[in-house]
Amino acid sequence: QNAVPHATPDKVKAAVQAGHTQQALPDYVDMAAYLADGGYALAASLSKGTAQTEDVLQAMEASGLRGLGGAGFPAGRKWRIVREQTAPRVMAVNIDEGEPGTFKDRTYLERDPHRFLEGMLVAAQVVGIEAIYIYLRDEYHGCRALLQHELAALQANPPCPLPHIELRRGAGAYVCGEESAMIESIEGKRGEPRMRPPYIAQVGLFGKPTLEHNFETLYWVRDIVQKGSQWFTSFGANGRVGLRSFSVSGRVKQPGVKLAPAGITVQALIDEYCGGMLEGHTLYAYLPGGASGGILPARLNQIPLDFDTLQAHGCFIGSAAVVVLSQHDTARDAALNAMAFFAHESCGQCTPCRVGTVKAVQLMQAPTWDNATLEDLNEVMVDASICGLGQAAPNPVRCVQTYFPHEVA
Ligand code: SF4
Repeated sequence: QNAVPHATPDKVKAAVQAGHTQQALPDYVDMAAYLADGGYALAASLSKGTAQTEDVLQAMEASGLRGLGGAGFPAGRKWRIVREQTAPRVMAVNIDEGEPGTFKDRTYLERDPHRFLEGMLVAAQVVGIEAIYIYLRDEYHGCRALLQHELAALQANPPCPLPHIELRRGAGAYVCGEESAMIESIEGKRGEPRMRPPYIAQVGLFGKPTLEHNFETLYWVRDIVQKGSQWFTSFGANGRVGLRSFSVSGRVKQPGVKLAPAGITVQALIDEYCGGMLEGHTLYAYLPGGASGGILPARLNQIPLDFDTLQAHGCFIGSAAVVVLSQHDTARDAALNAMAFFAHESCGQCTPCRVGTVKAVQLMQAPTWDNATLEDLNEVMVDASICGLGQAAPNPVRCVQTYFPHEVA
């Protein structure tokens, strides 16, 4: 039962200030409802020349909006980089949402799909995109039907000239959420990450300069441009700026997607947005960024949850999937579960990841960990893996060694 819905950041802010953090779910916003709310006016004005692409680009840059799929690259800068490449350019939209614990994209897509589609069309016009490929997680059957329906409505009544748009089914692999593996998959090949350089902004999908975005990044474009970059930067906590959509699960009373200020602490997230811990449970540990973002102990419950700030603690926020553990859980179980997942999902292209994850699972099953051998594996996986899967796989292991040594001694 969660509050996340289109155009609600202002309401969320007001509700938080008033001491009310729970809101009712909104109704589904179809194309008619979206248009009635002023939807697609921005996309239309860009095509008519009554709004300028440079102004939109500057608003995006000033907002500081960062990619919300996990990597956190500044969205406006990405637009400018791809726009400067030689045409034809294409766009790939990532709705694979495979990070364990992450469900924010689906939540928004099921409620307000046109806010995302307008952001996509605005980006396409600003960057000069000739074709868009939407890569949707194949397990999201309902979302596929919904998107097919709403794309048909958009094409029947386009607010601006539309680029070629294809909705592609994902391949069911976690690694296909990695941008270059997704591109390989869209091209009909095995979903294996590419070596870089060249970066996909230069040589991407079908060899063309490619603008790649997570669903949620595009979802915020309309609000940022129409309300102004200051609107987005007016949110934030503990010195951080902007909004984050946290997918909260685990031992809390009200799990779900929580739209909250960037930099909020996990304690505030639990207390003010999730109704507190479940009865009989106290906070023991939490995963700030899904399976790959590491595990932190309860005593670090006051650090800001945001890009960069968690790195000093050996973690990262990624797509902001917060998993809350209590005294009934162990960090070693969570770490082993994550490593088994990585071993299963490794594409097998490089040895450190393919072999290292399997070896790590074996070592982590021992009652007492062989920390020296595990650290050897950690090092080689971080240093020699091609993509983020292998590079991030040691995070949960190292967190257990650092923060929960009593569990594996
Ligand atoms: Fe594949 Fe793992 Fe290498 Fe990434 S790190 S390319 S998932 S084997």
